[in-house]
Parts: sequence; structure tokens; C-alpha cells
Amino acid sequence: MIIFGMRSFVRLIATLNVVCGSCRNPAAQRVIKRTRWFTLFFIPVFPVGVTRVMTCTYCGRASKLTKEQADQMVAAAAGDPNQPAMMTPAGDQSTSSATAREHPHS
Ligand SMILES: [Zn+2]
Repeated sequence: MIIFGMRSFVRLIATLNVVCGSCRNPAAQRVIKRTRWFTLFFIPVFPVGVTRVMTCTYCGRASKLTKEQADQMVAAAAGDPNQPAMMTPAGDQSTSSATAREHPHS
């Protein structure tokens, strides 16, 4: 009998202060990277998808990021974590389009 499944690993890759696109408050935003793994007998074998999400610590709003956006966040956070940055989060249109778009490795 073969037991397989999926498992997600979440990693915090950046935290930075920006003006939230949802609540308009300057608040810490957590950028996390979620990697989904195919598991065999509960052992992760290979990754099947990566999702990057930014969560506002003030209102709790989570928005998906592209890899490029996430990289910018990480770079900004590494540069000066106390420097507020203006940004335009993907916002509402991302929730409808991004949910369907997973990037499975071919
Ligand atoms: Zn917010």
C-alpha cells in the first residue's frame, strides 16, 4: 500500500512596514512563502507549487504576490526595515486571477 499526499511548508521570508493597500494603515506586512510538497509515506519528495503571500498584521488582509513582488519585498526588507515604503499591492484583482493560477513544475 502506498501512502501519498500533500504537505505545505510555510516560511517567513520578510517583514516590512508599508502602507497597507487594504486598511490604509502603515503596518508591518509579513511576507511568507508557502511551498507545497508531494509526500510519499509522509516524506516530502518534490515541491509541486510555491505561493507567496503578504499578510497585513493590522487588518489581517492576505494578498498573493508574484515572485517578482516577493523578491522586491525581501530586498526592501533587507535594505532598511525601518524605512516605510510605498507600494501598490496586487489587491482585489489578484484574488480572482491568482487563485486559479498555480505554477506546477513541468
Ligand atoms: Zn491592513
